[in-house]
Amino acid sequence: MQLRLYDTLTKEKRPFTPLDPSNVRMYVCGPTVYDFAHIGNARPVIVFDVLFRLLRHLYGADHVTYVRNITDVDDKINARAVRDFPGLPLNEAIRRVTEVTANQFYADAAALGSLPPTFEPRATDFVLPRADGKTDMVTLIRQLIARGHAYEAGGEVLFDTASMPDYGALSGRKLDEQRPGARVAVDAHKKNPGDFVLWKQSSGDEPGWESPWGRGRPGWHIECSAMSAAYLGEVFDIHGGGLDLIFPHHENEIAQSRCAHGTPAMANFWMHNEFVQIEDTKMSKSLGNFVTIRELLADWPGEVLRLNMLKAHYRSPMDWTLKGLEESAKTLDDWYWVAADIKGGRPSDAVIDALSDDLNTPQMVASLHGLRNSAASGNDLDRSQFAASLRLLGFLSESAADWKARKQQASGIDAKQIDSLISDRTAARARKDFKESDRIRDELAAMGVVIKDSKDGTTWEVAR
Ligand SMILES: [Zn+2]
Repeated sequence: MQLRLYDTLTKEKRPFTPLDPSNVRMYVCGPTVYDFAHIGNARPVIVFDVLFRLLRHLYGADHVTYVRNITDVDDKINARAVRDFPGLPLNEAIRRVTEVTANQFYADAAALGSLPPTFEPRATDFVLPRADGKTDMVTLIRQLIARGHAYEAGGEVLFDTASMPDYGALSGRKLDEQRPGARVAVDAHKKNPGDFVLWKQSSGDEPGWESPWGRGRPGWHIECSAMSAAYLGEVFDIHGGGLDLIFPHHENEIAQSRCAHGTPAMANFWMHNEFVQIEDTKMSKSLGNFVTIRELLADWPGEVLRLNMLKAHYRSPMDWTLKGLEESAKTLDDWYWVAADIKGGRPSDAVIDALSDDLNTPQMVASLHGLRNSAASGNDLDRSQFAASLRLLGFLSESAADWKARKQQASGIDAKQIDSLISDRTAARARKDFKESDRIRDELAAMGVVIKDSKDGTTWEVAR
């Protein structure tokens, strides 16, 4: 089946044809590294990793370039640096904040079963012209000024939204709809209220770079225009991110990139994942339900979080619940038991077809359940396709034994003691002492161990 993806810009699901099948190019906006990533941040990490893996499967692992940036220049980072490292010079304090948070983000993404992107550039490395000639922010801003799309006013360089006739096409916002009514005093230097900052001056106690417009720092949007062009060229295949980035961030990226390069498009597909809510409630710090990936990883294997996320389609809101996590954990225990020790094989067409339909992961999970049942009833081809599909999707990173051992460790259960109780119970059943065998079963249940009898003997697992 031909890959089809939903494009936020044209509002339709269209067949995906890469500009260059030997180098399929995707850019996804990464985190602003000032705090631990929360479960809402995990969604684009997992969703676009699945797309990355699908593209590698379809076009070849060496023919896909995936760029995810790190935003390490931001006023929230400055504030955090001043708060957490009051004794240090600002640049040093910022470096400490961003280094710790970026490393934690890399660790979280890996624990969630995500491959590292091909490139993970940091904004601070792309502010000034570079020795390697890759696109940088200052050069892009100069180009925008030279082409009549940006102007200096009030100590800032601003993008002139009126210079772009179709500004607003991605979000569907018209310029005169934005901020109706009188201009607020702070915006009086702007030609239009929708004009946005490309460069702003820094005071002495703010981080800054020397530029043609004085010592200052870039606006947020220009970094992605620079880093995407640096690694993927002026026009590329897919640009992704969370729904909240459509406006203003992606709208402004499009304006900057198209106007600086004089191209009719920045990316051919714009993909956006929906939000995550917790137990039917919007996640927020004030509600106390702001769950970090790190906290979840303390209680659950990363693959459980990954499967749980993929049970919802990326364009639907995700309701993150304890019940859902428990079900996902049970499913993975079973999948490990059926497939983890099967190597080789190729992924199932049903799984690839489901993903090729705009990443229909609920359908993909349904296909996996079908393969699992067929595998468990003795179909070895389906068992091998089941295992290969799970590996393609970032599951089964451990052996079945390691998975089980880790779960036991997490729940403080002694496997030797269980095995000995189970053999006592088997002996009791053999001598038809059902009172004793029931007593042992109840003792195991009280320890949180569920046993399953089959013609091949008795297996057990830890109930959550
Ligand atoms: Zn971005």
